[in-house]
Amino acid sequence: MNESDNTASDLSGNVRPGSQVSVGAGSPGCVAEVLTSLGIGCVLVDGDARITWSNTEGRRLCGWTPEAATQGNAVDLVMPVTGLPEAVRLLLGTAARRQIVHATIKARDLRLSLLGRGPEDSRCVLVVIQDVTGQACAQDSIREPDRYDALTGLPGRAQFMRQLQGALQDARRDGDSFALVYLDLDRFKEINSTRGHLAGDAVLAQTGARLRNAAFSCRAMARLGDDAFAIATGPMDRDGAAAVVTRAIGLIGKPVKVLDEMVSVGVSAGVAMFPDDGSTLDDLYRHADMAMYQAKAAGGGWRFYSTGMSVEMDARVRLAERLANAESGGELELHFQPQICLRSGSLAGVEALLRWRDPAYGWISPAEFIPVAEERGMMGAVGTWVLETACAQLRDWRDAGLHLPGRLAFNVSAYQLDDPGIVESLLSTVMKAGVQPTDLEIELTEGAVMKNLEGAARILDRLRAQGFTFALDDFGSGYSSLNHLQRLPVDRLKIDILFVREMLLGSRQRAMVAAIIGMARALGIEVLAEGVEHPDQASELAGLGCDTVQGYWYGRPVSAAEFAGTWLARK
Ligand code: C2E
Ligand code: MG
Ligand code: MG
Repeated sequence: MNESDNTASDLSGNVRPGSQVSVGAGSPGCVAEVLTSLGIGCVLVDGDARITWSNTEGRRLCGWTPEAATQGNAVDLVMPVTGLPEAVRLLLGTAARRQIVHATIKARDLRLSLLGRGPEDSRCVLVVIQDVTGQACAQDSIREPDRYDALTGLPGRAQFMRQLQGALQDARRDGDSFALVYLDLDRFKEINSTRGHLAGDAVLAQTGARLRNAAFSCRAMARLGDDAFAIATGPMDRDGAAAVVTRAIGLIGKPVKVLDEMVSVGVSAGVAMFPDDGSTLDDLYRHADMAMYQAKAAGGGWRFYSTGMSVEMDARVRLAERLANAESGGELELHFQPQICLRSGSLAGVEALLRWRDPAYGWISPAEFIPVAEERGMMGAVGTWVLETACAQLRDWRDAGLHLPGRLAFNVSAYQLDDPGIVESLLSTVMKAGVQPTDLEIELTEGAVMKNLEGAARILDRLRAQGFTFALDDFGSGYSSLNHLQRLPVDRLKIDILFVREMLLGSRQRAMVAAIIGMARALGIEVLAEGVEHPDQASELAGLGCDTVQGYWYGRPVSAAEFAGTWLARK
């Protein structure tokens, strides 16, 4: 931030000491700082419209001299924003916190929003000021809150829907086409939970500002909810829409400075065209949302809506509905697959694998229903069921005097890592069942971890400190950034089935497996090869120094009773 932006504040943009404003949950400085870096005028005022902080652009737009601003009383200042105290009162009078008062006074567009979550008397108001000289909307007015979102100054959902309806009618009348773009930030929850709500707010404010200032043809724009935004474009064809969404994604994806740290937020987007993808508001909206979902499921980027998506989505919705009842209906089961020590040939551990027996469709593969559970936010409940059941099984075996050498491995989905309480929740499940974290190994796929390397590393460090070990599943299937391995607390690496399958096909494929094993050993990480179906694979792997194997050659995943009968010896 420019030093001259600190007339009434310290260098970090915090409200200056001794001022009457304090904010419960930290400093609003970071929000103001982000806005300042965009060249947007901002002023912070207290409940009596006294200035506590302003930046150069804010002062310029208000016509204040720096001296006048330091005197700190906006009410007495000679300035064009005579409606400010009134707007502040209106804002403080509104019950909900996430509201904005939008005022246009003397060709200045003011958006006032409450900052901080402290008690009422410590409230502080951020005023974002823009010059709207010459714009059609520049008549003096103070608009009611609630149509606008407090943080971004963008219309909220209801207001946007009205505007979209207008766009729809005009396009129908004029025979135009236009696009509805639905944008949803990736990993936003994680920013909120790891860096705090003010950091999350700063990211949202920045995203809103970037969209508002983007130079593309736009009929309406909104913040629809938490981290979802929408754009209704002006009249354009698919190529035009593609250009808009690409630009929007590019803008939002630029790193944001939050409390001296650069934070990157990805965004997934879906585009539905009027009239091709929907001629009613409802269809258009649903289809843009659906396309966004598909983009998100594919790891980000954007998609045009296609009719195939509806068919697929219907099937997924029905699957999700049935899955929601699967647990209470007793349709879920865990199967167990042995892990074998290559040197001794004896049992070295076991992996628990989820099975779903749907009364109407029979066995459904986890590869099919887990992605659906993940995308519908059901993975937390499913994951808890898996661990509870696995721990109870372990307990039962013990109580029956059966000994399991090694650990019981269970799979954790990337989405479970988004839960800020994951560490406590895993621990309490384990303790309640009367087993120990040292009995268990957590399997996470490489893809899941790479989605959020830093966050995953933090969580895994905490879990390992409690005694869990951690295996990186499906290694080599996707990202394979060997570099990342050094940054993660990995105990074991599970070489993906594809490598094992191909290793006997040629020297290159064999060299790949050799390289993975060599590298893991150098890093002190154990190696398990998955999907061993043939004894030749096993002997080759043994020659390369692989520690453990898992695969049909040794044993398929089987029910708990069958596993115990085949593999577990009495103590
Ligand atoms: P995974 O964790 O990599 O599990 C290994 C998969 O390979 C299992 O498929 C297993 O049955 C299969 N497999 C084992 N040996 C062989 C072999 O020799 N040949 C072949 N062709 N396949 C073999 P499954 O049980 O269908 O599970 C698929 C994936 O679903 C798992 O891959 C895992 O990512 C996920 N999954 C399973 N259970 C859970 C769970 O409880 N939670 C979560 N989050 N994911 C799970
Ligand atoms: Mg696994
Ligand atoms: Mg695997």
